[in-house]
Amino acid sequence: LNLDANDRAILEVLMKDGRASLREIAARTDLTAPTVSLHLSRMQRSGLIRGFSPVLDPVASHHISAFVKLEVPAQRTDKVAESLSKFEQITGVFVTTGKENVTVRVVADDVESLQEFVNKELSRQADVEVVSSDIVTRALKDARDVRLSDVVPMRLKCDYCHQEITANRPYNIKLGPSYLYFCCRTCRRSYLERNRAKIRSAVARIGITSLHS
Ligand SMILES: [Zn+2]
Repeated sequence: LNLDANDRAILEVLMKDGRASLREIAARTDLTAPTVSLHLSRMQRSGLIRGFSPVLDPVASHHISAFVKLEVPAQRTDKVAESLSKFEQITGVFVTTGKENVTVRVVADDVESLQEFVNKELSRQADVEVVSSDIVTRALKDARDVRLSDVVPMRLKCDYCHQEITANRPYNIKLGPSYLYFCCRTCRRSYLERNRAKIRSAVARIGITSLHS
């Protein structure tokens, strides 16, 4: 499976908030909800999203990860751990017992950029000594804290009759940055009729950018 830019954008939202709804993901990725839904089911079928938690397979996602052990002066661990947490490449920071008292999990596109990150960023951090760096070769279980169970089985519901929408390209109304979706032309027309005043004020405020079906 080759991840495209949309897949990555969707995963990024989900890694931050595994409970984001289809609509929330759509709003944050500038995609339509049906598009998000299609991408999600494609990633699910490919096995990239396994079961109910998004285990990012290091091979499928073209990423490698490594556990890097660091030695940090005991009185500095909290400060150092905090500043390490800010790196986008670091997906986990663990303070542990032992001489190597901080372990970070680093994600990179390939071995080269992993090494570059370790050598150019980690090693140069104040009070940090890189002790070892081990690349993950297989991830058998990696549940972390995210749950996709609320997202994946979700279906889009009609904004008028609240029935599940089965069409791949539902009727919609774009109101500024967000979309409303309808199962059929009748629901869309009924919604427009019933909400004429609301829509008129939205048009005045933000402008309807698309009213096509
Ligand atoms: Zn409907």
